[in-house]
Amino acid sequence: MWLKPRFFLYPQVSAAVKTLRHLHFTRMDNACTTQSKSHVLLDLDGTLLDTDSVAEEVLKEFLAKYGKQWDGRGDEKRLGKRPLEAAALIVEDYQLPCTAQQFMTEIWPSFENMWCKAKPLPGAVRLIKHLHSHGVPMALASNSPRKNIEEKLFYQQGWKESFSVIIGGDEVEEGKPSPQIFLEAAKKLQAEPPSCLVIEDSLVGVTAGKAAGMEVVAVPSIKKQASLYTEANCVLNCLFDLRPERWGLPPFEDWIANSLPIEPWYIGGPVIKGFGRGSKILGIPTANLSADELSSTLAQQACGVYLGWAGLSTRGIYKMVMSIGWNPFFDNTKKTIEPWLLHEFDEDFYGEELRLVVVGYIRPEAKFPSLEALIEKIHEDRRIAEEALDLLPYSQYQDVPFLRTALST
Ligand code: ADP
Ligand code: MG
Repeated sequence: MWLKPRFFLYPQVSAAVKTLRHLHFTRMDNACTTQSKSHVLLDLDGTLLDTDSVAEEVLKEFLAKYGKQWDGRGDEKRLGKRPLEAAALIVEDYQLPCTAQQFMTEIWPSFENMWCKAKPLPGAVRLIKHLHSHGVPMALASNSPRKNIEEKLFYQQGWKESFSVIIGGDEVEEGKPSPQIFLEAAKKLQAEPPSCLVIEDSLVGVTAGKAAGMEVVAVPSIKKQASLYTEANCVLNCLFDLRPERWGLPPFEDWIANSLPIEPWYIGGPVIKGFGRGSKILGIPTANLSADELSSTLAQQACGVYLGWAGLSTRGIYKMVMSIGWNPFFDNTKKTIEPWLLHEFDEDFYGEELRLVVVGYIRPEAKFPSLEALIEKIHEDRRIAEEALDLLPYSQYQDVPFLRTALST
């Protein structure tokens, strides 16, 4: 237990710590490598492309036809599996009155119509561009059938050309967790396994990469599962956290003032009561927005600490630092955001319209040995946000109309 017992003497403070704590649970671990890497082998679904939420949409509708309700059960078992294996697990988990093959035949056309909707995961476009522009040979090794991979790539500009090798699960005898697919990819790249770095979101993929004699960076796509990835050489919160230089690969050069400019995204709504756990007592109040209404926007974002601008109706535009995380009070499908406006207000502003433009990433959530260490880190985040937001790539966003539309001027 990392929390010192004395904090439990103050229920509000210990509750506030719990609020803050969920913002900081994942270990960021860019462990040093044993050998420099020259080639990168990437998984597609759940690593580069968010096909899971698209697939979920189709499955929900499909199960409803059988009178069943999609509840995410068995998600982790299916992750990274070949389609027919995944189908067999769904038939079993939901006790469907059909065979896995029948299920596949029925559902597959709906999947194919939906791939155009799959979006790149946070940091995927940046990573592909970076490695490609630095001449690092890349392979795409996915358990999906080859034809299917091509369909998914069709909608992502510049991706297909960036990979020297593409291999589908139907092009090898055994899919992941067998090492075959990665060994075959390395062979086609004319690379030795120890000089290949694998980037994977699934446990079967990590197992496959390790069995192929490669080092593996895991970017778990299922929430709160990071602790299961013990086999991986390092576990990252999201692709933003990859430090290629630690693997002997060219470093990213886009970080500025301890933050990473990201494709801006916009979110807003009335300020609601948070969890009433008294973050204010710690001097770190967070103006909560409804997680229910914003769930689809938040689902697309990686957990972590971000910076941006906040517009508050009737008041003005402020710098802000915020975290995105899985709140322990909600069921496991809800992500919440906790924006701290970097301004001293004389009063609360519940009910007012709050607009946020999120422009930079600071760090993943992390575990801290003490409350003091946690608070110190949050203040460091604040300092980073305050300084960075004055810089050009970020400062221009304080003028976006979105922030002001809610202002009654
Ligand atoms: P809650 O659990 O209701 O979110 P907090 O202790 O996190 O309570 O306090 C957040 C509230 O404090 C906000 O909804 C807002 O009304 C008020 N507040 C005052 N100053 C700030 C600030 N600088 N940033 C965010 N909220 C603030
Ligand atoms: Mg709050």
